[in-house]
Amino acid sequence: MKLLALLALLASTLVPTQAAFKVLAFYNGTWDAAHISFVKEANPWFQRTAAENGFTYESTNNWNRLTGDLSQYKVVMFLDDHPQNSAQRNGFQRYMDNGGAWFGFHVAAFTQNANEWPWYHNTFLGSGNFVNNTWGPTTAVLRTSQHPSTMRLPQTYTSSVSEWYGWANDLRRNPNIQILASIDRYPVGTDPNQTWRGGFHPIMWTNRNYRMLYANFGHNAMDYEHNVPKSSTFASEIQNRFIIDGLLWLGKR
Ligand SMILES: [Zn+2]
Repeated sequence: MKLLALLALLASTLVPTQAAFKVLAFYNGTWDAAHISFVKEANPWFQRTAAENGFTYESTNNWNRLTGDLSQYKVVMFLDDHPQNSAQRNGFQRYMDNGGAWFGFHVAAFTQNANEWPWYHNTFLGSGNFVNNTWGPTTAVLRTSQHPSTMRLPQTYTSSVSEWYGWANDLRRNPNIQILASIDRYPVGTDPNQTWRGGFHPIMWTNRNYRMLYANFGHNAMDYEHNVPKSSTFASEIQNRFIIDGLLWLGKR
C-alpha cells in the first residue's frame, strides 16, 4: 500500500464519521441571573461543540417554533425553561411521540404544579414537583451508571457548580427511568438551612420510552450585586463528556 493511501485509511479510522444532524435549542434568557449566565455560555459552547463533532446547533427564544414542523431537527434542547402554553406543549409532545429526541437542563424540569402538564412532568420526566434545592451553588460528587451517554465517565466524578433540585417523585421506583448520575456524598450546600445532609438525589436521567436526557446542572454561581458569574457549568471536562456523548447518542436515532 502506498504511504498516502495508508495515511488516508488511518485518518478515516481515527476520525469517526458522524452523520450530520441538527440540534435546535430553546431558551428564554430572562430569569434569573444564574440561569441567564448559563444560557450565555451554553450557546457558544454548543456551537463550538457541534462544529467539533459533526452536527449543527441553532438556538431560539421563539418557543412558538414548537408548534411548527420540527422533523428536520434530530434533537431539541430546553436550556432554561419549558413551553408555557398548550399549543407549544402539544407541539413538543407530538415531536417526541414521533421519535424526536430531547436534552433538558436545570429549570427545564422545574414546576410546583406538575398537574398543569402531567405528561411532561410525571410521565416524560417522571420527577413531578420541585420540592427543595441546595444553596449556595456548589459542585457535587456524583455516582454514575452505565449508558451510552456515560461511557467516558468514571464511576464517581465531581460535577461543575450548580444549584441542585430535589423532586417529589422517587425516580428509583419508576421502571421507565434509568438514573444516570446521583449525589454520592453529603452534605451538599453552604447555607445550613438549604443543605442536603443525606437521602437520594438523582441528577441525570433518561426515560427508556423516549429518546431523552435530563441533567439538573445549568445554574452558575453569581455575584448578583455586580451580575458577574463565579462559575461555569462547562468547567468539568468529565461532565462535558456526558453532554457531548449524550447529544451524539440522541442524534444517532
Ligand atoms: Zn437555578
